[in-house]
Amino acid sequence: MKILEDKILAHGRVLPGHVLKVDSFLNHQIDVKLLKAMADELYKEFEGAGVNKILTVEASGIAIATMVADRFDCPLVFAKKHKTSNVVGDVYSVPVHSYTHNRDYNIIVSKNFLTKEDKVLIIDDFLANGCALRGLINLVEQAGGEVKGCGIAIEKGFQEGGASLRKDGYKVCSLAIVENMTDNSLTFRK
Ligand code: 5GP
Repeated sequence: MKILEDKILAHGRVLPGHVLKVDSFLNHQIDVKLLKAMADELYKEFEGAGVNKILTVEASGIAIATMVADRFDCPLVFAKKHKTSNVVGDVYSVPVHSYTHNRDYNIIVSKNFLTKEDKVLIIDDFLANGCALRGLINLVEQAGGEVKGCGIAIEKGFQEGGASLRKDGYKVCSLAIVENMTDNSLTFRK
């Protein structure tokens, strides 16, 4: 998506550890118009798939997921992050490794908000090694729901998550795929 790629080129910063910082428009300060356009694009990709729920993980997936949910006119559920492993209550829970913080945590969703009736589109801001998406897919499976696909703002194509999910048969649509990034250059997959 050209406007997203241009925004990344203009405002993205590459940090050590292959982390792309886009907090001036995507996950701290939010460019609402841009995110709306991104949601429109994801809607076009998954329109007609029968999606009746959007799922993401807190915190940085919530903004774009909200706009996608608005387009589909369906609820958005965000998985919550729990530091400890002793999760209590009526929840689905799965351990996930955090790419940016390099530690494990549990993500949880109340059993009230994910059910076998759900046809789920999973949304996130970034796709790197795929741990966050795999965790979210696992929660949908625990609930007996169906994953209709994954919509991502920025995929880092040089990491394995996207390829591995597509190989497993999931439809993964990323609005920008970074092919390569160094301190002073960033290229996109065409
Ligand atoms: P994965 O689980 O696919 O390895 O990483 C995806 C998750 O880690 C996303 O939810 C995102 O919050 C975070 N993440 C991974 N890579 C980056 C990055 O380069 N920049 C930012 N801001 N977040 C990232």
